[in-house]
Amino acid sequence: MDKQQQVLREIRINPIVPSESVVVATARSLRPRKKEEPAPRDTRKHVDSCPFCKGNEDKTPPTVAAWPNEAQWEIRIVENLYPVLDDTEQPGFTLGLQQAISGYGRHEVIIDHSNHGIAIHDMPETHLSMLFHAYQERMRQLYAMDPRLKYVLAFKNFGPAAGGSIPHTHSQLIAMPVIPENVHAEVFYSREFYRKHHQCIFCSLVDEALTFEVTIYDRDSGEIRRRISVGQYVIEKSRHFIAIKPFASRFEWEIHILPLQHQADFLSAGADKIEDLAGILRRTMARLEAVVSGAQYNYFLHSLPHDPDCAECEASYHWHLEICPRTSIPSGFELGSGFFVNSVSPEDAAEKLRAVKLERMQE
Ligand SMILES: [Zn+2]
Ligand SMILES: [Zn+2]
Ligand SMILES: [Zn+2]
Repeated sequence: MDKQQQVLREIRINPIVPSESVVVATARSLRPRKKEEPAPRDTRKHVDSCPFCKGNEDKTPPTVAAWPNEAQWEIRIVENLYPVLDDTEQPGFTLGLQQAISGYGRHEVIIDHSNHGIAIHDMPETHLSMLFHAYQERMRQLYAMDPRLKYVLAFKNFGPAAGGSIPHTHSQLIAMPVIPENVHAEVFYSREFYRKHHQCIFCSLVDEALTFEVTIYDRDSGEIRRRISVGQYVIEKSRHFIAIKPFASRFEWEIHILPLQHQADFLSAGADKIEDLAGILRRTMARLEAVVSGAQYNYFLHSLPHDPDCAECEASYHWHLEICPRTSIPSGFELGSGFFVNSVSPEDAAEKLRAVKLERMQE
C-alpha cells in the first residue's frame, strides 16, 4: 500500500495522560490552512540595540549568574523585566467560588549565548552542555532559596509564534509555588501506572520504542504472517538518551528526549549525561531544521516536582525534554474541545526526521 495515499483520521490517546487526546487527521494538510510562516531567522552575531547583546549589560536587570564568568560571559542569567511571577507578597483571597493564590515566585531570563542569532543546532556541544548545566545550577539555587517553591519550569520560546518576544537567543526559568497542571497530570497518571504495573510508564514506552520489530509467524507453515515495526518512532539515540516522536503527538513535528535509564529528577543528571544530552539535542534540532527550516518552537523540561507528598514518584516519574514546533495556529475546535489536531501522521514525520543525513558536526 502506498503510504502517501493513506489518509489517517483517528483519535490517539496520550498513553501517559489519557485525558489528553490528539486527532490525527492527515487529510487536513491538503486543505488550505493558516500556517505559521517560518520566522525570518535573525542570524546577526551582534546587534547594537539588543539588550541581551554584549556591551549592553546595563540595559537589563543585574546579572544573577554567568558562565564561565561575569566579565567574559557566554551564558548570563538576569531577572525578567516583566515577570509573570515575582517575590512580592500578595496574599491570596477567596471570593465566593473564585479563589486566588499568591502569585509568589521568580521569573528569570537565561541569555543562552553571547551570539545574538545563533540557533541551538549551531551551538557547539560544549556550549549546550554549559547551558543545561546552568539550568541545573540555577534550578537548584531557586529550590534551595525558598521551600514554598514547588516547581521550576525551564523553557525556551523561539520565534514570535512560540511567544519569543526578543530575537536574541534565550530561555527562561519560572519558579512557582504550585505544581503546574501539565506536570501534575504526568506525575499523577504515571504513579497510577506504577501502582498497577510496578514499572515506570516512560521506561516502558522507551522499551517499546527500542523493540524495533515484531515478527509474527504462521504456526503451521512457519511463514511470516505479519511484521510490525514499533521502533518507527525513534528519531535519535545516544549513549544515555533517546529522541522519540510521540504516537499521540499534539504538534506536527513534536519530539521528546528522555534518558534511557530511569531517572525522575533532571537535577540528578550528572556531567556525562548532560554532555550527552547536548549532543542529542543538537542533532535532533539539526534534523528539525532540515525538515522544517526556520521552525518556531518551544521546548521545556518536565522533571520531578519538589513535593514531599509523593514518595513513589522517584520510581514512577521520568524527566524529559519536550520540543514543540509551532507550525499552525490552534483553532476554535482545539481551544473549545481540548483536542489537539495534528495534520501530519507521526509515523511519516518520524520517517522524514530520521531520513535526514546529518553532516559530521564538529564539537
Ligand atoms: Zn542580541
Ligand atoms: Zn523511567
Ligand atoms: Zn512532559
